[in-house]
Amino acid sequence: MVCAVQPNISIVGRGSGRIIRGGFKISPQRFLMNTTIQNFDLLINGKIVSAHENKYFDAVNPSTGEVIARIADASTDDVKLAITAARRAFDMSWINSTISIEGRAKELLTVAGLIREHAKELADLESMDTGKTLKQTTFIDIPTAADTFEYFSNQTDVLNGNPIAVLSSSLCLAQREPIGVVAAIIPWNYPLIMAAWKIAPALLCGNSVILKPSPLASLSLMRLAQLIAQAGLFKGALNIIASSHPQAGAQLVGHPDVDMVSFSGGTSTGQEVMRLAAQTTKKVVLELGGKSPNIIFSDCDWDAALGGALSAIFMNQGQMCTAGSRLLVEDSIYDDFLKALVDRAKTLKIGNAMDFQTEFGPIISRQQRDKLLAFVQQGKNEGAKLLCGGKVPAISDSVATNGFYFEPTIFGDVQNSMTIAQEEVFGPVLCVIRFKDEAEAVRIANDSKYGLAAMIWTKDREKANRVAQRLRCGTVWINTYGAFPNEAPFGGYKQSGFGRELGKEGLLEFTQTKHVCIDQTPGGKPLVSAWF
Ligand code: NAD
Repeated sequence: MVCAVQPNISIVGRGSGRIIRGGFKISPQRFLMNTTIQNFDLLINGKIVSAHENKYFDAVNPSTGEVIARIADASTDDVKLAITAARRAFDMSWINSTISIEGRAKELLTVAGLIREHAKELADLESMDTGKTLKQTTFIDIPTAADTFEYFSNQTDVLNGNPIAVLSSSLCLAQREPIGVVAAIIPWNYPLIMAAWKIAPALLCGNSVILKPSPLASLSLMRLAQLIAQAGLFKGALNIIASSHPQAGAQLVGHPDVDMVSFSGGTSTGQEVMRLAAQTTKKVVLELGGKSPNIIFSDCDWDAALGGALSAIFMNQGQMCTAGSRLLVEDSIYDDFLKALVDRAKTLKIGNAMDFQTEFGPIISRQQRDKLLAFVQQGKNEGAKLLCGGKVPAISDSVATNGFYFEPTIFGDVQNSMTIAQEEVFGPVLCVIRFKDEAEAVRIANDSKYGLAAMIWTKDREKANRVAQRLRCGTVWINTYGAFPNEAPFGGYKQSGFGRELGKEGLLEFTQTKHVCIDQTPGGKPLVSAWF
């Protein structure tokens, strides 16, 4: 789990005036000192290529507001090229057994190795580009992405065909086959992990893939694209394109040569994806938003629940689809628990994500921060009690003054019907709601259009299991938060989407089943041949 790669270069970071250890292969000083801005190009047909008319868009560091790199900006023509490459790779070679399933698994394992070898560099890029703290990218994002590639490289057996028991004299086989060209469209909050969750299983199954990250967070993936191209992996079966054009994703979804869309993002975008995909009747897997209830019973382990509640809303600055953004606290401990929570929230160290001591980095963009400020105003207007945060903090670090910071925010006295309790805020804004008993906790928890995840904190195992059964969501964490084992399926109920990622179920999403029926009638003449 923990990154084992030692950093190989020491550089001075301006943010804190202290030594930041870095492992860049590509002039780290240029990022931090902002002298020359490096360009990152597209991966199309196994080669790193610039976009049409050599256009680029800026990658902005949310910790400082500075431009840190320029990303090739795929146009309609570039998207077409990527689709053509993926189609050809699928039709001509990938599917024609030029590369066996074992070969594909080996290439996935090579990607896991590349990620581990470049762990420090990728962690730095991910933190600079997204504002995730360096502690998080180092200990969670990078090792998790590598582990996912490795996990799927070991799942070749899942794809074996199976004979089906039938009553007739036929031999029936169910064969798992790839779907074809898969568009993998991902959001900005976990670029490397989301990419790994989609491209590793899709490629193992024999699909070809076009990965499109969010324009707000493409940098680490465009660097991974370089590493993959240099290693000569996948040869056109994996294409990685970034684009600032909102229609690039829609173009992928609507194109007849794309057979499946695996989408993670907001619920309203997911609805649009479904509409567009209907035009060509293609398969979609939708991993969408959430408003997850975090239920604290009075018989919880106090310290564990307090830590869990903080992590569930303030890790990654609350920008998690599974954020425990509705905290349901049992009446008898409500006041004390809330006070302890607010006290702890006020102590979180806010700052530049590149400082290893930072506990709470910036929000991804100024626009996203403005949305949070508007939600806070709405919460106040609707009568919720702002207990801490809700505003832009004063930052003493001179480099960070232009970053997109926002204080950890807690609202008490929230009614579940309020907008801040019903809409996905997607930031560090916690709504605390009081409940009197188990039945009321379940009712409030399920009173949401979303159904992604839930958390339960109690020492009473029976109660925990009972409540877990009654919650309408895809994941329930009991006395823990945020575990995503590669072996376990992840996905939503209700408007949080459908389809699963990870595990056997996640792998099989990228396959379709062919039934092969072989006659075994004695004498070789089945009834159908004598019908007329
Ligand atoms: P978003 O929906 O705005 O964008 C997601 C991706 O879709 C981006 O790559 C974007 O460029 C692309 N896109 C935009 N319009 C499109 C269209 N019409 N057709 C196809 N693609 C299009 O989401 P975001 O702001 O990047 O991410 C935040 C959202 O993602 C939150 O709602 C969060 O809950 C959700 N999310 C869900 C999961 C999950 O697994 N359930 C995981 C992470 C994030």
